[in-house]
Amino acid sequence: MSTTSTSIQTLENPSVPGAVNQELSTININWQNHQAERLNQLPIYIFGYLAELKNQAKQKGVDVIDLGMGNPDGSPPQPVIDAAIAAMTTSQNHGYPPFEGIEEFRKAITDWYKRRYNVLLDYNSEALPVLGSKEGLSHLALAYINPGDIVLVPSPAYPAHFRGPILAGAEIYPLVLKPENHWLIDLNTIPEAVAQRAKIIYFNYPNNPTTATAPREFFAEIVAWARHYEIMLVHDLAYAELSFDDYRPTSLLEIPGAKEIGVEFHTLSKTYSMAGWRAGFVVGNAQIIKGLSSLKSNMDYGMFAVVQAGAAAALSLPDSYIHQNQERYRKRRDFLVAGLKELGWNITPPKASMYLWVPCPVGMNSTDFFMNVLEKTGVVVTPGSAFGEAGDGYVRISLIEDCDRLQEVLNRLKKAGISYQPKCLVA
Ligand SMILES: *Cc1c(COP(=O)(O)O)cnc(C)c1O
Repeated sequence: MSTTSTSIQTLENPSVPGAVNQELSTININWQNHQAERLNQLPIYIFGYLAELKNQAKQKGVDVIDLGMGNPDGSPPQPVIDAAIAAMTTSQNHGYPPFEGIEEFRKAITDWYKRRYNVLLDYNSEALPVLGSKEGLSHLALAYINPGDIVLVPSPAYPAHFRGPILAGAEIYPLVLKPENHWLIDLNTIPEAVAQRAKIIYFNYPNNPTTATAPREFFAEIVAWARHYEIMLVHDLAYAELSFDDYRPTSLLEIPGAKEIGVEFHTLSKTYSMAGWRAGFVVGNAQIIKGLSSLKSNMDYGMFAVVQAGAAAALSLPDSYIHQNQERYRKRRDFLVAGLKELGWNITPPKASMYLWVPCPVGMNSTDFFMNVLEKTGVVVTPGSAFGEAGDGYVRISLIEDCDRLQEVLNRLKKAGISYQPKCLVA
């Protein structure tokens, strides 16, 4: 093997003295053993393993239906694409963008906040573009966490909420979400000593993966609690615009006093089907944002100006676009909830998000059920345990295929004899 690379080197560099006929002896370094401790601290990234299983099934010729990832199936709205194309033709947009983001995007963010929540923000200090909220959420921990600091993270949770802090050396204190508490964080279960030491709490409603929503009173309660203990509130409002019926998600910043204690992250990935663009933003406390911005100025050069122009256009779209998009997901939600009901599942239609959170049949854990469904039907879901131990017993189904494809999912489940029996019937 090493002779191949030697001969290429010899051919390409015939004039290099000593290169001709030089034989490289093979060395065998296991670079994995050289990895930084912080990488070893991470729990395995189950999504990588799931992707492997999915590809194996595809290679066997299975017509895989992938409802595993939260990757929207649509295209961005045409005005977004048009704005990006126009920006692409301006030569200055191809240089390094300003660290803090272009004014047009930051203004679009604060205008959107005014329109949507009636919250006033300063576009110079209280709004910052991030390269997808995953990046911002993770780097925020690196900007504020010292090794050994406690970070409070729900279980189950969106992986960046704990993986980012772990990379920063945090000690994670899991806040177990329970169905009997409607998957809301129960602040009363946090021991006083933990609350005293904790530095940051991450949370996310409408929630991924449980699809739970939190009432406004919950936001008021967590703001009061965080102010008392001086714990930074980091709210992830990824599903701000993916809500159904008459439900409107609450923004953390609508709560009086929240801006002194926290920030809120948003993404354009889900609402505008722009996941590949890597466009998100954070708003809220100016000092907290400044710390993140200062860390980021050492890591990246900000967001491509063309992407920012598209993102600004997205936030400025009329509400009719948002309504159309909500309808698209609502139809799928209702279709799948009704279909699963025929198979024994009684799922309350979620008020927001692009998922269903579905209990596993009795006697099966998340991975068993995931494997069972994949092997018998070729349908990929996400085992709840991928979001933390407390997600076990559930799978998350993404509403990222149209109803005809979802019908196919239901047909296959039925044919495979997969159904749900509530516990009481079994006992
Ligand atoms: C999808 C998702 C994100 C990811 O957003 P990006 O901007 O694409 O990085 C963040 N948080 C939650 C809760 C999500 O579901």
